[in-house]
Amino acid sequence: MNSPMTVLVTGGAGYVGSHCVAELLDRGAKVIVLDNLRQGHRAAVPAEAAFVEADLADTDALKRVFAEWRFDAVFHFAALSLVGESMRDPHLYLHGNTVNSLNLIRATVEAGVRKMVFSSTANLFGTPERLPIDEDTAIDPGSPYGESKFFIERALHWADRCHGLRSACLRYFNAAGAHPNGLLGEDHHPETHLIPLVLDAAAGKRSHIEIFGDDYPTPDGTCVRDYIHVCDLADAHLRVLDALETRSVRYNLGNGTGYSVRQVIEAVERVTGLKVPVKVGPRRAGDPAVLIASSERIRTELGWNPRFPDLDSIIGGAWAWRSRNPNGYRGPATAQAAE
Ligand code: UDP
Repeated sequence: MNSPMTVLVTGGAGYVGSHCVAELLDRGAKVIVLDNLRQGHRAAVPAEAAFVEADLADTDALKRVFAEWRFDAVFHFAALSLVGESMRDPHLYLHGNTVNSLNLIRATVEAGVRKMVFSSTANLFGTPERLPIDEDTAIDPGSPYGESKFFIERALHWADRCHGLRSACLRYFNAAGAHPNGLLGEDHHPETHLIPLVLDAAAGKRSHIEIFGDDYPTPDGTCVRDYIHVCDLADAHLRVLDALETRSVRYNLGNGTGYSVRQVIEAVERVTGLKVPVKVGPRRAGDPAVLIASSERIRTELGWNPRFPDLDSIIGGAWAWRSRNPNGYRGPATAQAAE
């Protein structure tokens, strides 16, 4: 039998990263998580994974990690990831995300590691001229966040051309849902994402959900997004490893179906049986009206097929995790101690 592969996962304590760590462990990989825990949660990293608390800005820490382990691949999730915040503080994103990733790419190349899987975004495509959005759609990032991810895609392009570092750039549409094992879910502080916020409004933990604009050119006036289960994203990360034996790849990852903000709210009411109080507010800067993926390329080339495409099931999983973990990863005792 082959020896298990060893994988470094930056940002492995975060939402998508932790689900990928679980998938890697399930498939027998040895996993080392590097995370600064500013957004991630130590409790989201299983005991079977080694954990290093460090920031990618710390090049000495990176050197130590690459000296201690010999990696077969690097999965790179660690980043700031809020569109709205990046519109308010572009430098934070354009500088921070990019420099940290360049540090990681350099350390990866210097260590002779040949594969990197990179967490990119649909925000690369800004306001696209045609839908669904495939990999040939023109790149015109919608925000400094998206631009920072594009810079990194370009750095990876050159790392392949100049050093033979193969990379997979995976452009996620709207990651959603929770792991069916009940141990992992979505827990951001502060929470800005639609589905967890609507669930909190249903549960009475928030007074209402504010719809950011209902005057978009969409059927009900609210923004349309393509919600993709976080475990389907994780599955794609594992599948691309084989492709990286021969080439670098870029794939858009979504279900190919769009739901409006109002449709998400209706789905939450259906799944939970609870009423969601709604208020309509102004548009949020940087939000395109419609983002729907075409994932034909990865379906055809790698046989990827979302296992959890149904919106109600995605929301059902998120609701189950939030109901079991009302304080997210922070148990009640921890939350009290922090106050
Ligand atoms: N949204 C909203 N109210 C909220 C949070 C989000 O109307 O409190 C909308 C947002 O404008 C976008 C969609 O829900 O059209 C999904 O937003 P989210 O932040 O979850 O993901 P994004 O599309 O920004 O990656």
